[in-house]
Amino acid sequence: MVYDILIKNGVYPDFEADRLVKGDIAIADGKIAAVGQVEGDAKKVIDAAGRVVSPGFIDIHMHEESFLKEGKEYVISRMMLLMGVTTCLGGNCGKSRQSLDMFKNVIKELGGAPVNYLIQAGYNSARNAMGIGRYDAAAPEQIAMLAQQMKDDIDHGAYGISFGLEYDPGITFEEVMQVLNAQPQEDLYVSMHYRDDSSGSADAISEMIRIARESGKKFQISHLSSCSAMGQMADAIAVINQAMKENPKLNYDTYPYNAFSTGIGTAVFDDGCFEKWGKGYEDLLMTSGKYKNQFCTKETFEEMRRDDPDLRVVAFVMNEEEIAAAIANTEGGMIGSDGGVERKAGHPRSAGTFPRVLGKYVREEKCISLLDALRKMTIAPADRLELAGKGRIAVGCDGDITVFNPDTIADGATFENLYIPPVGIDFVIVDGKVAVDHNEIIDERAGTFISGPFEKK
Ligand SMILES: [Zn+2]
Repeated sequence: MVYDILIKNGVYPDFEADRLVKGDIAIADGKIAAVGQVEGDAKKVIDAAGRVVSPGFIDIHMHEESFLKEGKEYVISRMMLLMGVTTCLGGNCGKSRQSLDMFKNVIKELGGAPVNYLIQAGYNSARNAMGIGRYDAAAPEQIAMLAQQMKDDIDHGAYGISFGLEYDPGITFEEVMQVLNAQPQEDLYVSMHYRDDSSGSADAISEMIRIARESGKKFQISHLSSCSAMGQMADAIAVINQAMKENPKLNYDTYPYNAFSTGIGTAVFDDGCFEKWGKGYEDLLMTSGKYKNQFCTKETFEEMRRDDPDLRVVAFVMNEEEIAAAIANTEGGMIGSDGGVERKAGHPRSAGTFPRVLGKYVREEKCISLLDALRKMTIAPADRLELAGKGRIAVGCDGDITVFNPDTIADGATFENLYIPPVGIDFVIVDGKVAVDHNEIIDERAGTFISGPFEKK
């Protein structure tokens, strides 16, 4: 037998046995063809001595390319690929960055994508497109139309529905329930960006737990760290852990940075936000535009909020030990980057999340074991998203693999420069093809669009 790729001498995670196992891994025709002591030749042999051969990382929370704004080129998914991610779920926080059909068509037109993509239908984007103001209640007939639109998107291959309550405070609990109750699929995936953070975090989490319970859908609390890492994390984790026990369809994702990032014109920065966080204008960093890489003043904040509302700012308002606690929780939780790029700028989480967890939180701070961290970035999201062929190393599984050095892996991207690649990642393999060889992208078309489970063919 001549395999396409043979990875020798590495260790790989066996999640069922709960340990790292030594063994070779052979790939042929896009699939894992043999594991263990593998005999036979290969077109490419990778010596993985001292390396971990992991299933490709799955980013359950990111913000996909905006082909409408950035042109038909890949920016964020190239960053994802370079940090070992092979599959991404986009369309988070209520935001669809273009229509689903357009997104699928561009991937087809470009002949593939750097990563495998799944996309949710963004509820807020549909609501905004209907002309409903962010603070306004939707009329019953508008809610019915929005529910139908979500249903149509799911029929066309959207993976589920995302909501961003904080971005459109006019969205009520009842509105969400009406939209969800109109969806017939019991196991539909629903993700939600909370209604309020910091002092409002406890109420926001209660609301999400209630929506999860009453709707009966699979429910993902989005980026827990940016909701509750301002003094509320211990309580938030206790409440969520209890709720996950009562409702196994509930879970959450979180990212490894103590600053969040979003548009300066959003409702996140409405009056009272600085008092709530106990922070000021000087804790906001502008990532592009006229004042790129400068911290805000009252004057520049107001100017840019008025004149350039899409400008992404980074808000340094979270506590480091609470970020670590959200990652270290072994009762549940997954790693999601929440990465997004606007005008080629953004937050380093877009390019460093997964290596940062493995470098800073596993190796340096030892707040979580390597195996548990890998679980949160591979098999847990794969099971959550029902991607049977992904998230594990076993014969017949997809050839999506990330080979890294556990002694050196680390993030490179900074708040000033998003484009510094991570270190310690030797190879990223997508669909059985070498996509990255030591930070060099070899193939950025090996990924495909993956339709949601309820697509009507
Ligand atoms: Zn969000």
